[in-house]
Amino acid sequence: MKIGIIGAGTMGRGIAIAFAQKEEHTVALCDINIEVTNQSKERLQKELEKLTAKNIVNPDLLQPTLDRITPNTKEGVGDCDLVIEAVQENLQIKKELFTFLQTVCKKETIFATNTSSLSIAAISEGLDRSVIGLHFFNPVPMMKLVEIVTTEKNTPQLINQMKALLITLGKSPVMSKDHPGFIVNRILIPMINEAIGVFANSTATAEDIDQAMKLGANHPIGPLALGDMIGLDVCLAIMEVLHAETKNDKYKPHELLHKMVTEGKLGRKSAQGFFPYNR
Ligand code: NAD
Repeated sequence: MKIGIIGAGTMGRGIAIAFAQKEEHTVALCDINIEVTNQSKERLQKELEKLTAKNIVNPDLLQPTLDRITPNTKEGVGDCDLVIEAVQENLQIKKELFTFLQTVCKKETIFATNTSSLSIAAISEGLDRSVIGLHFFNPVPMMKLVEIVTTEKNTPQLINQMKALLITLGKSPVMSKDHPGFIVNRILIPMINEAIGVFANSTATAEDIDQAMKLGANHPIGPLALGDMIGLDVCLAIMEVLHAETKNDKYKPHELLHKMVTEGKLGRKSAQGFFPYNR
């Protein structure tokens, strides 16, 4: 299949790798402009080298995978069979993007969104076709889960086609209705927000909070390191959606989360979150 991916950030690059490892797919990777996309392609090479060093990607597949990913522009995805958007978590930006895409894409092109929390129905409102949620998890090449998030507009054929496609990528899809946070983030992100509260009132250090949840709850990674990995801006956006859509204050984002995002401390992607990282 010809896959178009819009948004060449953490998730877009990961989704590109997941598809491009298979010789039956080619990927057109796009970002706000071709310069930004070209920079992402350079990062892709480094990420693939790390994945091969860890034996997550077969070293023989490194170059073919890279070769199947071509930097492109949004105007260039017209002949793609499936377009997956992975731009920032903002309803207006995603709606505008799909409104644009329907003017350039063939009418059979399937539209999918990697949103973490936004309503798929709201994203697809007013479009000439349905949008399906394909919620990949970070880091995509290592995480088997994909939540397929469906609305009443998605046909059973489309849902089955996406399920079968994801299985060929080695993923294990689960089905979720289009409810705030779907399955994982409805449970996970409030837990990270709570861990931020535990840190903010000086109950414990970041190291000890994470160690406690690893050893006491058998989590493979602590909640603060996980927030850094997801991106604190993404965590904030998800909490805001959960709060707005449920109108329940138990989903109110912690003020420290707001503060860190305002200060540009976004986690791994900005090299500083609850922990420091090398770029
Ligand atoms: P990111 O900030 O790393 O990347 C977003 C990319 O989109 C950036 O490169 C940005 O330049 C580009 N972009 C923004 N607006 C654009 C536009 N109009 N056209 C083209 N490109 C545009 O973000 P991310 O972490 O990759 O998240 C992307 C999406 O995936 C969000 O909806 C997020 O909620 C979702 N998601 C994130 C995670 C995660 O763990 N980070 C997991 C699952 C889903």
